[in-house]
Amino acid sequence: MKKLLFLLCSISMFAYGQRTVIHCGNLIDGKSNDVQAQMTIIVENNVITKIEKGFTKPGSSDKLIDLGKKTVMPGLIDLHVHLEGETSKDQAIQRFTSNKADVAFRSTVYAKKTLMAGFTTVRDLGGNGVNISLRNAVNQKLVVGPRIVTVGKSIATTGGHADPTNAYREDLMGNPGPKEGVINSPEEARQAVRQRYKDGADAIKITATGGVLSIAKDGSGPQFTDDELKAIVETARDYGMHTAAHAHGTEGMKRAVLAGITTIEHGTKMTEEVMDLMKQKGTYYVPTISAGKFVAEKANEPGYYHPLVVPKALEIGPQIQATFGKAYKRGVKIAFGTDAGVFPHGENGKEFGYMVEAGMPAMEAIKSATVVAAGILGMSDKIGTLEAGKLADIVAVDENPLKNIKTMEKVSFVMKDGVVYLQ
Ligand SMILES: [Zn+2]
Repeated sequence: MKKLLFLLCSISMFAYGQRTVIHCGNLIDGKSNDVQAQMTIIVENNVITKIEKGFTKPGSSDKLIDLGKKTVMPGLIDLHVHLEGETSKDQAIQRFTSNKADVAFRSTVYAKKTLMAGFTTVRDLGGNGVNISLRNAVNQKLVVGPRIVTVGKSIATTGGHADPTNAYREDLMGNPGPKEGVINSPEEARQAVRQRYKDGADAIKITATGGVLSIAKDGSGPQFTDDELKAIVETARDYGMHTAAHAHGTEGMKRAVLAGITTIEHGTKMTEEVMDLMKQKGTYYVPTISAGKFVAEKANEPGYYHPLVVPKALEIGPQIQATFGKAYKRGVKIAFGTDAGVFPHGENGKEFGYMVEAGMPAMEAIKSATVVAAGILGMSDKIGTLEAGKLADIVAVDENPLKNIKTMEKVSFVMKDGVVYLQ
């Protein structure tokens, strides 16, 4: 009897739980290309149950959230962040002075900043595995942050962009292998992917070419062979993981696209040939214009970066926005990503302005950070649009972003999974 009573109580609590009624001055739902005026979203628990025209009058037990003067849209998604760190002059030395716990505490601050900037979901494209614990802590509601999809640690080849001991003293350099995310054959490639899966990663990231911020000379050359790339993509698929490739140079990018990689990150020297190949293969381009602009600017500040990094930052950084503009015009599929961490966390929203400046309409830029990004993460059934049945990830800005895209830099309302974090 007691059990039955309990059961009845829980059912009634669920059925008659408090509804939240959200009045939206303007609504961008992630599906339509129109901004809909005066709409109401009904949220029960953590789910959107209804979207209605006009301002629905809340019932006596309903909670009203008045966003009647704001533009409301789905929670934003950044497909390229690094929550374990943030740019600073002494970032290289921190690798020797920070314990994992130091990294972990700092990452909670970056996670919160990211959520408060309106990004309710992020894909962390590489750290030291603290990002996996951070994801779990956010899921357990111990830490305030965005929903995290993480690759754990990036996979590189020896001396490659994500080899964790680049430029170390000989006795510290050691010989990192698949467990540490460094591979030198298809066999090791498979082992490294399986290790990431075992570590608890959700996706796989590789550094297909050299990169800007590694203390190494080359920023663009290919760093994986075709058979290594094939082994990575195929093994990742076996474990239900999608793949992302950091790539600046054409050859490494082309190899990664041909191997079936899901997203190309940065894509700096993407030629028309590679663009067409990406269209043919359905590969997405995640531009990270913000990072390019930031490193190009900081490279002029004496001593901010290592001398090996400076010429790479000056060369590669300024090119990304123009590449993005060309790729967009040519019809390459674009998904939103910033590389936050390379620049200060929480400034992710600047990317929208850079995309619009390079020729993408504001609505498309917003879709790249909502419905399109959700698809890449395999989460289209839960996030990315505002409609009945989706999780209540809802953000708002003060102005209509189609009239002023800069408003995306100052999100003024954040709800994630039905919980209000900023109002
Ligand atoms: Zn990155």
